[in-house]
Amino acid sequence: MDFAIVSWLVFATLLGLGNTVGYHRLLTHRSFKATGWVRATFTLLGAAHSGSPVLWVGLHRYHHARSDTEDDPHSPKDGFWAGHTGWLINAKHPLPCILFALSGFGQQLMILMHDVRRLMGKNPPTWRSVCADLMKERLMRTLDTPMVMPLIFMVQVVAVWMYAGWWGILWLWALHAAMTNSSWAINSICHWPGFGEQPFDTGDDSRDVPWVAWFTNGEGFHNSHHRFPKSACHALHGGPDLSWAVIRVLIWSKLASDPWVPRSFREKLLPANNE
Ligand SMILES: [Zn+2]
Ligand SMILES: [Zn+2]
Repeated sequence: MDFAIVSWLVFATLLGLGNTVGYHRLLTHRSFKATGWVRATFTLLGAAHSGSPVLWVGLHRYHHARSDTEDDPHSPKDGFWAGHTGWLINAKHPLPCILFALSGFGQQLMILMHDVRRLMGKNPPTWRSVCADLMKERLMRTLDTPMVMPLIFMVQVVAVWMYAGWWGILWLWALHAAMTNSSWAINSICHWPGFGEQPFDTGDDSRDVPWVAWFTNGEGFHNSHHRFPKSACHALHGGPDLSWAVIRVLIWSKLASDPWVPRSFREKLLPANNE
């Protein structure tokens, strides 16, 4: 049992960083540069649960360009749960949204349906149109090929089944449920006026919610992020930001470089770069 809990925590941390350091700060916002294998490693960790990097990055770039408007792919304007999971299943009533949130593997089912539609020639072009930079990379194109993501998920299912049977499936369900709901919490909790605060006037409903930052590797400082999307650090005013700590370790190890932070925070966040 101890091994199950420890291994779960290790995988949850690594896969979570694949999303926050990899998909979000490195691929979407190009907040820093990383060596080829570091970029590939974080991308693959993200791909284990977040879907194709091109799809995720495209959706997120759309979100930044249209935050809390009619064209925002995900916003809690139509209700908290609609912003959490309703946008994925085209539902506004809380019940189906909550059931989907609890399903754990629901996102993987949506990814499978998305790929089947693409194989049938119904290719949503919008996401790829804002990811021309990623489409130049063979790894990104490969991961964006229809059925590659479902294949990666099936490998996980077979692996945990062979190792621990139904307990393994339960372990994987808990992992995916935690990963997906953590990501969705940014869209719902961190855009919901009842939580946190808005240190910056960004013209949208984004919020800094420090307690969300604890289980999202620092992504809870979402208003700061909307104000400075390119910043490699999200906890500009202090607070838990594991992703920024990992980026700093990568830079210290010469595995990453050129972190961007707002000029007014540079002295505080990157003191060694101010000579
Ligand atoms: Zn947002
Ligand atoms: Zn972002």
